[in-house]
Amino acid sequence: SGKFFVGGNWKCNGTNESITKLVSDLNSSTLESDVDVVVAPPFVYLDQVKASLTDRIEVSAQNSWIGKGGAFTGEISVEQLKDIGCKWVILGHSERRHIIGEDDQFIGKKAAYALNEGLGVIACIGELLEEREAGKTFDVCFQQLKAFADVVPSWDNIVIAYEPVWAIGTGKVATPQQAQEVHEAVRDWLKKNVSEEVASKTRIIYGGSVNGGNCADLAKEEDIDGFLVGGASLKGPEFATIINSVT
Ligand code: 13P
Repeated sequence: SGKFFVGGNWKCNGTNESITKLVSDLNSSTLESDVDVVVAPPFVYLDQVKASLTDRIEVSAQNSWIGKGGAFTGEISVEQLKDIGCKWVILGHSERRHIIGEDDQFIGKKAAYALNEGLGVIACIGELLEEREAGKTFDVCFQQLKAFADVVPSWDNIVIAYEPVWAIGTGKVATPQQAQEVHEAVRDWLKKNVSEEVASKTRIIYGGSVNGGNCADLAKEEDIDGFLVGGASLKGPEFATIINSVT
């Protein structure tokens, strides 16, 4: 449902040299036209990537402050992101939930603020391995989803990224069936708790060890509307393969 959406989350990777090369590879790659493409560089490179990258690809931040800027040492405001032409922000990523310690309420506040200011939000959800093994996958995902649903002003500018934590950076990709099962449940949750229209229009993308070899099978699943790619998005040609896996 909706246009295929592929995001590259570069996380805390890259140097001036490697990022210049990656941008140049992306600028020269041939990308399917019917796909929204976004890359999220580390903050220090965001402005230069925005300025040197083809307009075909939008840029995203990997985080944003919960409110207006000011005396918040180390933070980056939504207004500053908009000022450099950044259109998106990734919020609720598992690394920020589980390593940095951000909770549902804090993430929800950030999402509401960013959306109210006109940024698009890539809203991440996903269960830990022990939660999956305890049969709690849907409960965890629905609770994280509800934290967004409770506060967001509208769903027009939100993409949901389902990223099972056990699949992130591990090389252990979810099977197409495992991913589809959760995506379908998320869509069903939106239908029951938000609206039929939002359920059918909202893109639900998968993240966790997506690469050039496994993307095509995942992309065939009915409720997988794209990908959020970590490691493989640092390689221009492989990221292009993933973008072009649109069905
Ligand atoms: P990997 O693709 O490296 O597993 O990372 C996925 C991810 O966390 C994207 O946000």
